[in-house]
Amino acid sequence: MAFDVERARRATPASERHVHLNNAGAALQPDPVLHAVRAHLDLEAELGGYEAAGIAADEIRGVYESIANLLHAGADEIALVDSATRAWLTAFMAIPFEQGDRILTSSSEYASNAIAYLQAAEREGVEVVEVPNDEDGALSVDELSRLMDERVKLVSITHVPTSSGLVNDVAAVGRVVAGSNALYLVDACQSAGQMPLDVAAIGCHLLSATGRKYLRGPRGTGFLYVDRDRLDDLRPVAADLHSATWIAPGAYQLREGAGRFELWERSVATMLGLGAAVDHALSFGIDETYERVRRLADRLRTLLADVSAVTVRDVGRERCGIVTFTLDGVAPTDLTRTLQGVGIHIWHIERASSRTDMTEQGLEAVSRASVHAYNTDAELEALGAALTEVGR
Ligand SMILES: *Cc1c(COP(=O)(O)O)cnc(C)c1O
Repeated sequence: MAFDVERARRATPASERHVHLNNAGAALQPDPVLHAVRAHLDLEAELGGYEAAGIAADEIRGVYESIANLLHAGADEIALVDSATRAWLTAFMAIPFEQGDRILTSSSEYASNAIAYLQAAEREGVEVVEVPNDEDGALSVDELSRLMDERVKLVSITHVPTSSGLVNDVAAVGRVVAGSNALYLVDACQSAGQMPLDVAAIGCHLLSATGRKYLRGPRGTGFLYVDRDRLDDLRPVAADLHSATWIAPGAYQLREGAGRFELWERSVATMLGLGAAVDHALSFGIDETYERVRRLADRLRTLLADVSAVTVRDVGRERCGIVTFTLDGVAPTDLTRTLQGVGIHIWHIERASSRTDMTEQGLEAVSRASVHAYNTDAELEALGAALTEVGR
């Protein structure tokens, strides 16, 4: 079955008013997401927050099940938090690093991950090693195999970077990690909702993602997957009366499952919005979504290659919905602003967000047009035409 574009656009009325190509920043939320959030806010206003949460208990449980379905995981392996960074840091900081431990990572790391590696190096004396890329610009799995030894405590890879259409082969990485004791953490922030994710096929123990990007959920939502077989290798840094129980004056017990990485207080409305977003995404089929995303992104790269002032900057063999480019003589920040003035939403990434891969490419900043399956060929043509105009 093909992706049902008409249904996707009907559920996203704003898609008829703007050309939204900033899905890697924050996608347009479909109606079911807005309805779920608003309905729960109304219920809280009517009854009070605790009473409303009680009534929504089944739906709240359903959010864990929906995310588990998305990832082919168990509902007990999901923790709901307020962003991908919170999810990632919650996992990372729970790893009991010791002096001399090694972290193997990629050149496409998000700045926040890179800062955490530097802090771990400062605090715990870990050694952070960047795995070299292959000739196409993706993480080299052969180089990774060569670097694996008993010092490696963590393999931490960004699936899709914020600054390029590149897709790292996280399943091939998982096959290498499988022969070791290392933990394997995947930053799936840009891939969740865009392409199929199966934690067993990837072989990761930890995976983080956000709600607002390709999943099209509300801002301030994110989640963490934790392999139930590796729970005891991790030490939650922040535990409260939800993550643990104070069982005696001198004793506490951590909660079973990934819930030990959550805190008690949360925004129930946006959590329910995230669940609605995941259900909406699943109802279109993630395979179908990715097939269309890739076709549109390839089309856009072709269109942009025909605009003489534009250079497409994506690397890697497999390329996804993120299309990065530069326009001669126009700063990416200015381009974002200019295009927003004509109803076309793209974004710009500065070197500090994804320093290593951008430095390798000699770039200070790039423009990023990120397509989703609800976008159309006509919208891509509109961007091409606008860039031709601005490039003149
Ligand atoms: C956006 C992004 C993040 C951070 O997500 P937040 O929800 O803003 O915390 C992490 N990693 C990558 C690759 C991203 O693109």
